[in-house]
Amino acid sequence: MVFWGLLNRGYALYDRSVREAQGVTFALVRGGGRKQLFLSERLSEFSGEVLPEGGFLCPLLVENAFALQRLFPSLSPRRLPEGASFGFGDRLGLATPGHIRALSSAAVFPILVQQSVRENARTDRTFEEVLAQGIFGAFQEGYEAGFGADADHLKQIEDALYAANLGYTFFTCDPGDYVVSVEDLSSQEVKDRFTHLPESETFRREYLGPSFKIDGLGMLRFSEEELARAAVKYGGAVAFATRMYHSLTVRLPQGFDYEVSVDETETPTTPLEHLFVAQELLRRGVDFVSLAPRFVGAMEKGVDWRGDLKAFRRELRAHAAIARAVGSYRLSLHSGSDKFTLYPFLAKETRGLWHVKTAGTSYLVALEVAAHRAPVLFREIAQFSMEQFAKDRASYHISADPSLIPSLEGLSDDELPKIIEEHNGRQVLHVAFGSVLRSHLGNKLRLVLNKWEEEHYEGLAQHLGRHLDGLGVRNGG
Ligand SMILES: [Zn+2]
Repeated sequence: MVFWGLLNRGYALYDRSVREAQGVTFALVRGGGRKQLFLSERLSEFSGEVLPEGGFLCPLLVENAFALQRLFPSLSPRRLPEGASFGFGDRLGLATPGHIRALSSAAVFPILVQQSVRENARTDRTFEEVLAQGIFGAFQEGYEAGFGADADHLKQIEDALYAANLGYTFFTCDPGDYVVSVEDLSSQEVKDRFTHLPESETFRREYLGPSFKIDGLGMLRFSEEELARAAVKYGGAVAFATRMYHSLTVRLPQGFDYEVSVDETETPTTPLEHLFVAQELLRRGVDFVSLAPRFVGAMEKGVDWRGDLKAFRRELRAHAAIARAVGSYRLSLHSGSDKFTLYPFLAKETRGLWHVKTAGTSYLVALEVAAHRAPVLFREIAQFSMEQFAKDRASYHISADPSLIPSLEGLSDDELPKIIEEHNGRQVLHVAFGSVLRSHLGNKLRLVLNKWEEEHYEGLAQHLGRHLDGLGVRNGG
């Protein structure tokens, strides 16, 4: 057996990873405190060291992930099939095996690679590293059912093209910098700005007069003022999303998945605004697979949604009806971690045409492992997160009040997980992920997760599994 030499040296084998290509056996192994890729023979596309007892041992480098992907095509990201899709963002680069276990025959297509430029900057990672970690994670679990790779919240066209060159398949355009807060303008200012838009005459022709028949909603019609507000608010955003899309079509003529997200705006996206954005994108030839409006209520990271559920359902129904009528694209729920209240409604109203993005909640699962297995480290992380909170909260919609978190000194080690379960603690811990992972605490946390690897995966499988159950896509869920 090709692994004997290694196993004799105290290496452990990841059983599910073992497979063959070109007469060579491949497997992930762990030894000497790290995970590596083992080949029964040296192949020139891989870099590593020849072992005296036979075989070739390769570090988990980006270039080795790409070489692996060339031999095993199921490890290359692919485009979304029909139906629902779910984004498993992974801030640590260690969660993919747990995400795959959460899937266990779920009727949903996974995006196993999903990070934004901002999240990468906060964690000192690159698009290539995030992709490589997803590839190795899928390889480790022997997963062959396909996954997508989402270059999330792209604000620059160069970033989109960069990710396209690496093999990303899903591009989330965030034109938020071009959204104008019409809520801060007087109606006269909105009117004036509308008149000066280069396309104001086209907009009038397209939107004033005709009414839009939306099945399940009836006829929608724009008043002059509604059109002016929608066009001033989103006109620049649509233009930017169109430019990014066309740049990508040149780079990826074989096709790609494109999402337009306006979820990080100040005010909720009204159904009429949604209609305007979607119509304008289509009119400019932008073929998008999903759209992320800003929904009503508090869509905060890592905690359940709060707000007026009746209003949410009414708006959701309208958004879903528009998505079906205009282009059969998915409605995308960003900051989708732990929104258990919303999942059944999202699944029902969209009739299964949804996309949900999560990431923060997987980081919190990692912290749960730390709270159970390394209480001293967890206390340090919690303390540091609270100190960082004032700075880290700046770019997130969150309502946490750190003064409501139970004091660390007052908690026994057994009680530490309470901090992660509680609303304020969850948010404070969540938004500090970048500060923590870039500090000396990041490496300590990774060591703990490597030591308690199975427990980490099972925690992820359970918690993300609950998400999929709420969305109704797992057997018996
Ligand atoms: Zn978002």
